[in-house]
This record gives sequence, C-alpha cells and structure tokens, in this order.
Amino acid sequence: MTQPLITIDSVTRQFAKTPDLAAKLANRLGAHFEPQVVHAVDSVSLKIGEGEVVGLVGESGCGKSTLGRIVAGIDNPTSGRILYRGEDVARANGQRARHIALKVQMIFQDTLDSLNPRFRMGQTVREAARFHKVVPDSELDAHIDNVLVQAGLDPRTKSRFAHQFSGGQRQRIGIARALAVNPELVVCDEAVASLDVSIQAQIINLFMDLRERLGLAYLFVSHDIGVVRHISDRVAVMYLGRIVEQGPTEALFADPNHPYTQALLREVPRLDNRHASFNPVSGEIPSPLSPPSGCHFHPRCPFAMDRCRFEPPALKEIAPGRKSACHLNDEPGGSM
Ligand code: SF4
Repeated sequence: MTQPLITIDSVTRQFAKTPDLAAKLANRLGAHFEPQVVHAVDSVSLKIGEGEVVGLVGESGCGKSTLGRIVAGIDNPTSGRILYRGEDVARANGQRARHIALKVQMIFQDTLDSLNPRFRMGQTVREAARFHKVVPDSELDAHIDNVLVQAGLDPRTKSRFAHQFSGGQRQRIGIARALAVNPELVVCDEAVASLDVSIQAQIINLFMDLRERLGLAYLFVSHDIGVVRHISDRVAVMYLGRIVEQGPTEALFADPNHPYTQALLREVPRLDNRHASFNPVSGEIPSPLSPPSGCHFHPRCPFAMDRCRFEPPALKEIAPGRKSACHLNDEPGGSM
C-alpha cells in the first residue's frame, strides 16, 4: 500500500459509565464509588488505502462501531491518532479541518433515525453540500440531482419526507447525502443489517458500483461475515476492543489464524446461503468494564496457556499482509 488514505494509529477509547441508581444513592450516603470505565477500543492500528474496502467484524459490543465513529470524526479517541493522507486530523483547523471532515462520511443502520423527519428528501441531501459550498450555488441543484441518480433515487421525489420512503430508499438517501460532499471514504455501520435480504443485495451492489465509478473506499463495520466476505478486500477481526487478526479477505477466510477468528468463521454460510451471522463462539462475552487480563479471549479459548492469562499477545505479522495476535504463533509449530 502506498500512502494510506486513513491511518488509525494506536487509537484507544474509554468511556466513564454513568452510575446506576444504586451507585448514585450509595454515593449520596457517603460511599465513594469510583466511576466504572468502559474499555471500548484498546490501542487499535489499521490502515485503509485509497479505493479499498476494509471489513471490520466482531461480536456485538466489541468496539467496532465506536472505532467507525472515531474514523468518521463523530467521536474522539481518548488517545492515539487518525491520519488522513498522513496528516493528523486533530491538528488540522479551519478550512483544512472542514475539508478533511467532508472526505470521511458515515452511513448508519437506522435509516429513519439518521434522517431529519422535518426535512424534505432534497433538503436532507443538499444541506451539507450547500453549507460547505461543495459546488457553486448555481450548480447546486444539478449536483444534487446527479447524486440522487447515482444513489438510485428519482429526483422527482425530492419533496417527500423520510417516512414516505421504504427502508431501502431511505438508505439510498443516506448514501446520496454522503455522496453530495464528495467523500473519499464512507464508514458503513451495519448499513444493510436492518434491510430485507433482497434489498441488502441491491444496496451492496450500489456500494460496489460507487466504488467502481468514484473510487470510494469503505470501512464496512458489520456482524454479518457473509456480507463482509462478499465485499471486502481486507478484513480486520475485533474482540473486546482489540484487533486480533487482519489480512486479505480470501486468505483470512481460507486459513484463519487466531482461535477467535477460527471459531467465528466455522460453518459461516455465504451471502447466497443466508442467515449468515456469527457461529456462536462458546462462552459468554466478558464485559468491556473489566476485560480479562492477558489475552482477552483466554476464558473462551480452547488453546489457552498459562502465559495467555497475564501477557497480552502483540499483533504480529504471520505472513505478508497478514497479522494475528496469538501466543500460539510463538510456539514451535505455530497456531492450531
Ligand atoms: Fe488463545 Fe492464548 Fe492465543 Fe489468546 S493468546 S487466542 S488465549 S492461545
């Protein structure tokens, strides 16, 4: 990869958990409960190249959506950096910061919640482009009509409100709104998860078509491994805030290295054989409030050794373009 479009550099995100009623009451009575910390993202590094599709997978609560929001500039890291073409986005200001912010857009799962119910569709799509003067005012109407067509929408429906569209059409409105500001990367957070299977396929085809025509890159955050396999060039697997494995899609699916990836991929159906989701990994997902020491996966890992309980495994190169974080790779004979 030449200069990456986006570099996620050792990004960590922690949240203070809001105390529950019992803790608030106890504090009023003099007990001093320390606020609990959610370890959502833990020192994650990942690169996304120009026009590349990177799939980010993991079970619910693993931190993948938080990471997506940080990449899109909707949330800030507690530590670490996001670089756009090598430039630290946190250090950019004024016009430059606005330019970078427009280059990364996000598409959400909930198509109704992500659209203003009081705005007509045309206004929803044009608002950011108008505000940021993406094109001269005299060209704005033509520009918006063009992105609507690119997203598969009829410009004659611009006066309708969000609730007058189907779920698939609302997702197309979200896509058109993103396209209107000429992004280079689109973060898709479970962007097809709430759609019917046939509509999912249409929206995925639209993503791929836009990639082809506009050179768009995607960070595709999903729990649906079948979809991720279908569209991604590379895949990163997250577990409790850490990336445990990453590599080119076909190599990773053909020969998963990390025991967690192996458990996830076992018997996962393809996109054309639906109900694609995670193969249940045995054992409870530990709480991100108190992740297990050492390798976070050790309480569920059939290969856990003493070392795994106290020493976090580093994400190391295991083959060209492939990385995995498992102590088994240091053992004679490698991983299982
Ligand atoms: Fe299992 Fe240890 Fe590898 Fe973690 S480091 S995945 S516990 S073998």
